[in-house]
Amino acid sequence: MPSQHTATGSRPPMLDACFLGPYAENDNLLEKLVVEFLRDHVYWRRNFHPEDPIAIGTHAAHHPDYLAFAARMRRELHQLSAALKKSVPFHSPRYIGHMASDLLLPGLVAQILTLPYNPNNVSEDAAPVTVDMEVQVGLQLARMLGYAHDPAQPECAFGHLTSGGTVANYQALRLALALKAFPVALRAADVPELTLPEDDWSAFNLSPSASIALYAQWQHWLTQATAAERRHWQMRVSDARIEQSGLVGFFAKHSSLKVPKVLAPITAHYSWSKGCKLLGLGRDQLALLPERGMRTDVDALETTLERCLRERQPVLLAVAVLGTTEYGTVDPIDAVVSARDRFAARGMGFGVHVDAAWGGYLATLFRNEDGSLRTREAVAMGFQQFPSVDVYNAVAALGQTDSVTVDPHKLGYLPYGAGAFICRDHRAVGLLAEAADYVFHADTPKDYLNRYRSLGQFIPEGSKSGASVAGVYVTHKVLPLDHAHFGLLPANTIHHAEAFHARALQFAKAMAAVVHVMVPFVPDSNLVCVALNPVGNHRVATANTFVRHLHDELRCDPSRPLQDKQFFGSVTTLRPDVLGDAETQRILDALGLDMASLGEEGGDRLTILRHTLMNPYLIDAENGVSYIDMYFEHLATQVQRLLAG
Ligand SMILES: *Cc1c(COP(=O)(O)O)cnc(C)c1O
Repeated sequence: MPSQHTATGSRPPMLDACFLGPYAENDNLLEKLVVEFLRDHVYWRRNFHPEDPIAIGTHAAHHPDYLAFAARMRRELHQLSAALKKSVPFHSPRYIGHMASDLLLPGLVAQILTLPYNPNNVSEDAAPVTVDMEVQVGLQLARMLGYAHDPAQPECAFGHLTSGGTVANYQALRLALALKAFPVALRAADVPELTLPEDDWSAFNLSPSASIALYAQWQHWLTQATAAERRHWQMRVSDARIEQSGLVGFFAKHSSLKVPKVLAPITAHYSWSKGCKLLGLGRDQLALLPERGMRTDVDALETTLERCLRERQPVLLAVAVLGTTEYGTVDPIDAVVSARDRFAARGMGFGVHVDAAWGGYLATLFRNEDGSLRTREAVAMGFQQFPSVDVYNAVAALGQTDSVTVDPHKLGYLPYGAGAFICRDHRAVGLLAEAADYVFHADTPKDYLNRYRSLGQFIPEGSKSGASVAGVYVTHKVLPLDHAHFGLLPANTIHHAEAFHARALQFAKAMAAVVHVMVPFVPDSNLVCVALNPVGNHRVATANTFVRHLHDELRCDPSRPLQDKQFFGSVTTLRPDVLGDAETQRILDALGLDMASLGEEGGDRLTILRHTLMNPYLIDAENGVSYIDMYFEHLATQVQRLLAG
């Protein structure tokens, strides 16, 4: 029973078959699979019209040009392979830097075996097999998040893959804008027989659900109309849409409306800034909310929303982060959802998007095998602190949000580039379609699949790797997204993070005579930051130089042999404007640093070490090795060395 292993914190035996392994222990498994499926591909070619003549005869392989080409190719491949030896050893338990680790074998093999077929998921014409898989991946992730995932349900969710979280976040902005502006277009086109909001402000401020319902009504109305009427009204509405006129035309025509704001926590990933620029909203429209303990400050959200309502400043989207990129902290998603519903009732509707690019797969820990939500007590079994009540409530609220970003290429342990965008109600997605999408035929699973087989209509990209999709799909089939299967992986990372946190506190005690050490935020998940300052120093700039020097030992250095490095870590900074005065004071006090020195050159923010605990082999009970202990011993040596020098 897998949960017994997670309960004791030891590694479940199944995980040992999941990866190639730190020492490439599973080389036979991988090699056998790759060769087997490469051969299978060869026979697939041979069995496609075997009556055709052989195009590349045996004599061709003796021609000098053939031989020269093969030699050149081999030589360049050798060069590449040699150069790649300088790569970052993501697979190693000595790598605790950024959000990367070993790759799941099912995904890696599925991707390698699919590559020579080269499916293009832009449409089913170019990818008869993998487009369906992509739609299925959307449903797999929807189930993990608590969205409706049965295509027979009218409000079933929909999701697709992207190159990464950046593009998925952009898709969220695009869909939110389409939903917000569509009711305004219906009003402008003066569509008869539909009950439309009474003015532009109310049309622009429907809740996402109300907007989807109105869009569905319009679709239904079209199916009842004659062909000529349908053409006429479709054209009229299409001309009035923001997608036709662009922001400039739209807001010129509806001059009572302001350009909407995107509310995101101040620690939000920079993809939100990119997205606002890309959509033409501009960075001015990205309103960054203050945080408390690196989690969105709910009171500040409330105040901001009140002000927006008072000033008739529309809000496009409120973004909550599940697993911040720098600290792994989790925003109060439940509180953001509740704010959405309360403000929608007061006439100011907006969507809620969860940026779970990093933390999305943590949701597997909260799902039973039958798809139901586990209780907090059940989730907490075997952990010391995880999940806090706040984290539990946040994850439990995912099903009520409007859309979510999840990165399979992060905590999904899959190759780049695989991000995912999932929205709660697929009926919204027609608004993104490039071609007129008026027949709303999606109340049977077959219709649902048919509709999304022309995926290129709805996604930001055009041509797109079907091999990457196959990797995600097969992985989710081998490791279903519940606590007993895929959940073993995040459970393992959280055990390690808890062990790392405890060890950091022990390190702080042991080193107290020479260096102040603290963990600035109690980790919500599997990222742990450590702040350090030599005893006797009171200046932030000096502490930063010290931590930078420590990090020099923990970073990639292509000029030195890889083996010289004992460990890989990363750094991040704490900015006073992000932290707020009270938090800044708390952290600087604990480190013996002067607030006054924050103004000095090189001291406007505090540099700290950041550790991503996602390698499954950090604690090797069998050989009695803990890379966590070894890391802190290494850190102690480096601290002593720096202080002595
Ligand atoms: C990594 C990350 C992103 C961006 O995802 P990419 O896959 O790098 O494009 C966005 N948001 C969060 C919270 C992230 O951690």
